[in-house]
Amino acid sequence: MNIGIDIDNVIADTYTDLSSFFHNFMGKEHTPFEVVEIMRWRKLLMWRYFARAWRQKVMTTIPLINGAAPVIREWYQKHNISLVTSRTIIFGRQTKKWLKEHDIPYHKLHHAKETTKYTKVKNCQLFIEDNLEEALVLANHCDKVFLFDQPWNRQPVKPNNIIRVSSWQEILKKA
Ligand SMILES: [Mg+2]
Repeated sequence: MNIGIDIDNVIADTYTDLSSFFHNFMGKEHTPFEVVEIMRWRKLLMWRYFARAWRQKVMTTIPLINGAAPVIREWYQKHNISLVTSRTIIFGRQTKKWLKEHDIPYHKLHHAKETTKYTKVKNCQLFIEDNLEEALVLANHCDKVFLFDQPWNRQPVKPNNIIRVSSWQEILKKA
């Protein structure tokens, strides 16, 4: 299978780990849904945020989401694994280092603007993503999309090739 996998909040427990860093940058606390909206719309502010995150290398110490590594290692033996992240390219080196340290194997690593991830995985049979907007676009191009359950994506989803999953154990079973 050609499998696409998002990194933040699917493999890396980014939100949990960086929420205090984010709130600190913003000067106040926001709900998970508000954080996603801020990231989506306040691009200029987010460039400042990413520059600070890059300088302080906060992306390099994020813990893994439970169960992700063993499944990806197993899949890597028989499937084509593309990691597709919307992290900007400035995080390329830090991301590769992090993946290596956690022994996450992959065939390709792509940086893609939001809603363009589908362009990176040809003949995509499965994609795993936590961003609902991205998942809706991916569903038009991939056989199956697993929506990794997170507080910001709990809205009902229509396309029946989008399947909500809440753990990597469940992903392994349903893939
Ligand atoms: Mg994500």
